[in-house]
Amino acid sequence: MTSAVFIIFGATGDLARRKLFPAFYSLYRERKLGDDFAVIGLARRSRSNEQFRDDVHESIKEFARYNVTKDEQWDSFADHFEYMSLDINDVEGFRRLRELTDRLDDKFGIGGNRLFYLALAPELFGSVSHHLQAGGLLESGGWHRLVIEKPFGYDLSSAEKLNAEIRQVFEEKDIYRIDHYLGKEMVQNINVVRFANTFFEPLWNNKYISNIQITLSETVGVEERGGYYDRSGALRDMGQNHMLQMLAIMAMEPPSRMHPEDIRDEKVKVFRSLRGFQSAAEVRANTVRGQYVAGTVKGRQVPGYREEDSVNPESTTETYFAARVFVDNFRWAGVPFYIRTGKRLPVKTTEVVVEFKNVPNSVYLSRKHKLEPNLLVFRVNPLEGIYFKVNAKQPGSEGAIIPVAMDFCQSCEVGLNTPEAYERLLYDAARGDSTYFTRWDEVALAWKYVDKIASAWGERTEDLHLYPAGTWGPERGQQLVAEDGFRWWPVNGQDEGEVEWVTTQR
Ligand code: NAP
Repeated sequence: MTSAVFIIFGATGDLARRKLFPAFYSLYRERKLGDDFAVIGLARRSRSNEQFRDDVHESIKEFARYNVTKDEQWDSFADHFEYMSLDINDVEGFRRLRELTDRLDDKFGIGGNRLFYLALAPELFGSVSHHLQAGGLLESGGWHRLVIEKPFGYDLSSAEKLNAEIRQVFEEKDIYRIDHYLGKEMVQNINVVRFANTFFEPLWNNKYISNIQITLSETVGVEERGGYYDRSGALRDMGQNHMLQMLAIMAMEPPSRMHPEDIRDEKVKVFRSLRGFQSAAEVRANTVRGQYVAGTVKGRQVPGYREEDSVNPESTTETYFAARVFVDNFRWAGVPFYIRTGKRLPVKTTEVVVEFKNVPNSVYLSRKHKLEPNLLVFRVNPLEGIYFKVNAKQPGSEGAIIPVAMDFCQSCEVGLNTPEAYERLLYDAARGDSTYFTRWDEVALAWKYVDKIASAWGERTEDLHLYPAGTWGPERGQQLVAEDGFRWWPVNGQDEGEVEWVTTQR
């Protein structure tokens, strides 16, 4: 049931503009939102309802999947949107918010459901929760859900503090912590490929898989987020959440039902099985941190990280991070999971590559061409799809063997990014489906793992490897994989250039 008053804190911010308003529009166009909903935008700056609706229109025009014009359909959609100027620290303002919420509830026949979306700096989450309670916004008779954005804390102790504050007001079942990677079509497709097919699951273990690689590469630098990023870095910004979540989905056992708690229980077991580090030296042997210096990305000269706005010119923050991770359980004993993420890399992409072991006794070893391992590749972003690389005879040859790809290019069929992760997540939160939101125990275990790495790294400059912008990160990142006899598979089947569907190149 999606009938609710959606109360968006931070409605004049970047996230609301680029992701949330376009998501509302897609849901409305697809009739996943009926006529029994209302959206209240909140922020400190002053806006009339008319100005706010114009802002929403502009954001939809720029970022939505559907075209929008100011016609009758727009008018009936826009009628559901109102704006209120409110400072989070103003408790009295929350009483006025309650009046507005109740009025819109009556107008659209909503029945008391409230979804509070905090597109705000995390320091404000605790105050919002308390003021919602003090303002009487949790007494409306329906359900009350809190959706919160990352980052959920800076380390385990700050995350615990934040969680404790929110939990004074909301129960865990009503807290929806967003990791938007979990809303991505292909991340959700990993479960389907694994659990809805016969032939992958029997191979999904250390007998047949040699290693798994997860790459999340960006071509952008820190843009306007220098201040935040310089404090956070790649490990906290991407590693603690998106990368470990994707790893958990790849590694988890089949749940007995596709029920949110069953799936999250299985992910928690993976987090509990992550091999910890016994010493700082062990952390350093299994992780790599890098920082970009000036270079060329997609033919454009770009400055180094320390020259970016709002970044400390002597910063030791990592903009690249790679790790060799082990999941110590029966299924995965001895299989390395390599994860890497970085800014100013040559290609923007997110891919998960499963590399299978070689055949036990190759009758083709005498042939000219060495057999390539079978690969199963999930393309998560921006291209979406799956391909499976197998060895086959080169047509017309004396028996040369070449790798060929069996492809499912989802983007080629339905276009890029459909539906957008935020559409899916907003819809799920409104329906009360928390499968693709992170539960507190997952978040805490991920922080525990990441804290070990961060504290071993400390401020040491000798471990910070510099890499020119536009390259695949520091040489040490390549070594990490090479020392186990593997290599990073080229993403998108190629090392650089525009992302297109290429699967057959070596
Ligand atoms: P932003 O552009 O800086 O927007 C912040 C919003 O908060 C603005 O609407 C601001 O409006 C409002 N605000 C600030 N202080 C307030 C106060 N005291 N009372 C009421 N409203 C206040 O930030 P953002 O990029 O949208 O990010 C929001 C959250 O989402 C952050 O936690 C961020 O880490 C997370 N996030 C963002 C993205 C993204 O793509 N942008 C992606 C992932 C996660 P006023 O100044 O008018 O009050």
